[in-house]
Amino acid sequence: MFKRDTAELIEFIESSDYTDIIFDFDETIVQLLIDWSYLKIDREQLAKKYEEEEYLKENGWYAFDKMLVEKYSEEWKKDLDKMFITAEENHFLGLNENTDLIHFIKENAKKYNFYVLSNNTQNTLYKAISELEMTKCFHIVLWRDNVSAPKPNPEGIETIIKSQKLKKENTLMIGDSETSDIAAAQRAEIDSFLIDMHL
Ligand SMILES: [Mg+2]
Repeated sequence: MFKRDTAELIEFIESSDYTDIIFDFDETIVQLLIDWSYLKIDREQLAKKYEEEEYLKENGWYAFDKMLVEKYSEEWKKDLDKMFITAEENHFLGLNENTDLIHFIKENAKKYNFYVLSNNTQNTLYKAISELEMTKCFHIVLWRDNVSAPKPNPEGIETIIKSQKLKKENTLMIGDSETSDIAAAQRAEIDSFLIDMHL
């Protein structure tokens, strides 16, 4: 799957029949500037705490996070979530806007039903959305704590579909990550669009 730019996305939406559109947030509507280097330190401490340093070293952070949730379930998931929350709350530097997409959303908030499904935290999302003056643009904003597992788990999409009584064929998921946004859409059996806001 290849990534397309914002102009292509807008053209795609306008030439299709989707009525309900779910956006990823980071790297889709904005680029969040978070100093993730702290996450590396926190993750190393977490690995030490649970004596999984070897696993982290050999398999990398993505496999490590996945392993933690799968192998050690709820208690460990909380530790992992706390790590992300701490990183976002303490090391949030600001954001870069996808101005064309933000303009499109603001102009069309009455024509379509827009939603946000993000793996970021509540504080980060609320701060950013209010700063962008977009609080009235979205029917629902879901963040990582609203679901039992973040994307690619399809639970967030399914929650929106169920609560709003949406038709799957009219619903589109937009995001920058093939492994989280697009994979979640495929599991929820809705169409998706892979975007690169920097193109
Ligand atoms: Mg993203």
